[in-house]
Amino acid sequence: MPRRKRRRWVFIDPPEFNENSKIEISLDEIEALRLADVEGLNQLDAARIMGISQPTFHRILRNARKKAGMAIVYGFGVKIVGGEHVMRKFRCFDCGYEWEEPFGTGRPMQCPKCGSTNFCRQDAGRGKRRRGRW
Ligand SMILES: [Zn+2]
Repeated sequence: MPRRKRRRWVFIDPPEFNENSKIEISLDEIEALRLADVEGLNQLDAARIMGISQPTFHRILRNARKKAGMAIVYGFGVKIVGGEHVMRKFRCFDCGYEWEEPFGTGRPMQCPKCGSTNFCRQDAGRGKRRRGRW
């Protein structure tokens, strides 16, 4: 039988969404949150995936966690602003061509060189395939 949950003291009311206040969070901060807190990677692996040092990753993650916490605790809206890592990289399986597209433009329809639709994301933003050393 599961143990009965002990009562906890909570000193805040449930937050109401505050549409007038927005927190600006950058794409690299969101990526840090995703890798560390959603995917559960350790900081060293996550830093490697993003192509930055572990101390830099730590700093980005700390900022990101604070912003995410404030959004939840105070009900702030979140506005995503571009970071420095705003390009997506693609690679064509048929001709080997690699190219970049900015975020927010949707998935490209075809390889700009050969027209093939047989291509995939190449950049480190896709953490799953990139686990481990490279
Ligand atoms: Zn191609």
